[in-house]
Amino acid sequence: MAVPRIVRRLGVSRPTVTACLVRFERVGVAGLLDRPRPGRPRKLTPALEGRIALVASARPRDLGVPRADWSLSRLREYLLRTGMLPALSLESLRTALRRGGLSLKAARTGMARKGTTTMIPAAFEYHTPTSIGEAAALLAKLGDDAKVLAGGQSLIPMMKLRLATPRHLIDISRISGLAYIRESGGVLAIGALARESDLEESDVIRARYPILLDASKVIADPLVRNLATVCGNLAHGDPANDHPAAMLALGAELVAAGSKGERRIPAASFFTGPFSTALKPGEILTEIRIPTPPPRSGGAYVKLERKVGDFATAAVAVQVTVGANGTCERVGIGLTNVGPTPIKAKKAEGFLQGKRPDEAAIKQAAVLAAEESQPTSDLRGPVEYKRDLVRVLTARALVKALERAGK
Ligand SMILES: Cc1cc2nc3c(=O)[nH]c(=O)nc-3n(C[C@H](O)[C@H](O)[C@H](O)COP(=O)(O)OP(=O)(O)OC[C@H]3O[C@@H](n4cnc5c(N)ncnc54)[C@H](O)[C@@H]3O)c2cc1C
Repeated sequence: MAVPRIVRRLGVSRPTVTACLVRFERVGVAGLLDRPRPGRPRKLTPALEGRIALVASARPRDLGVPRADWSLSRLREYLLRTGMLPALSLESLRTALRRGGLSLKAARTGMARKGTTTMIPAAFEYHTPTSIGEAAALLAKLGDDAKVLAGGQSLIPMMKLRLATPRHLIDISRISGLAYIRESGGVLAIGALARESDLEESDVIRARYPILLDASKVIADPLVRNLATVCGNLAHGDPANDHPAAMLALGAELVAAGSKGERRIPAASFFTGPFSTALKPGEILTEIRIPTPPPRSGGAYVKLERKVGDFATAAVAVQVTVGANGTCERVGIGLTNVGPTPIKAKKAEGFLQGKRPDEAAIKQAAVLAAEESQPTSDLRGPVEYKRDLVRVLTARALVKALERAGK
């Protein structure tokens, strides 16, 4: 995640975020905790015991400790080296472990506390509802303390970094009947538990929604795609995620279910800010509904990434329908990672509407899309570069989509 986005999301200053990232890079999770001032050995307070328990509960390899033979003196060395404790005798450390019911021997296998699996995220209660109704009721009851867990490919990394610390996780992955991709009645419906890999394997997607296949194939790697859900990709609200722009281009509608019933939200009004969506507290995204494209339609998603599996430097989604007279009957254009939300390039769409998509029109639409982008400078490049990238990628995506529409 880019630094400006973390700054916006957490509302803390850029130097604070940079300092935390540097500390995390250097010493892992320990770097994110408050650092005690150097000085005399302190009495074992509950806070200090908490820190010791955090480290002792982690597996050595998660802490970047090369050898698995965790010992009391190695643990002490780690605590001192990372600045988590200023000074500590082995005896105090032993006492802290005893009080916390922790065993270093067990920690080697990830079981520091007898009968519990150890983890780096903050502790949470895990719920496994078996129906959407049950999940919605739990969400309504637990309020802001609860989060939906689907594939876990965005939420779990955020929890490991403690950027998210939900006290309750409501895992919807055991709810049966939600992993569908089906086309009927003029609508393609994608259920809450359809994974990215399901899109890749779907015949209907391959034959009629190549824009979705293009997008899935460039998301992360197969391991992530086997777990990550398409609905989670939208619900996460990350403007760097790939499916939101495709849904904007396709004119999708999103179905949200809560304890008070169901409602439909157009994709165009779903993404409300960085990592924010129109989902209300207590609502679950249960289905994506995409109008079946008429004949002479085609779509494409074109992404530039620094290396395979990376988030986009910029990407563009295009879905077009060409009329019998050769003019554009419908045009949808979505932009990825060049603004605080995924962007619907309305001016470019409006410009092409009713026009013959010749070279000059494509060129002008691409310029308009670039003007509509709102990139910020970051490690992936400066503003001017990203804006021009949007121009180039829009032209490429339009050409590809039109080619497909002609087939
Ligand atoms: C190494 C790596 C690389 C990645 N690269 C890319 C990439 O290139 N492009 C890309 O687009 N993404 C990428 N991702 C992100 C990831 O693919 C998506 O964000 C993922 O699809 C999220 O889906 P999930 O099911 O895993 O959601 P989770 O991680 O389970 O949840 C994410 C968020 O959405 C909420 N949520 C999930 N499902 C629902 C629902 N049905 N209703 C309401 N809220 C819900 C959760 O509460 C949480 O806030 C990458 C992830 C990793 C780990």
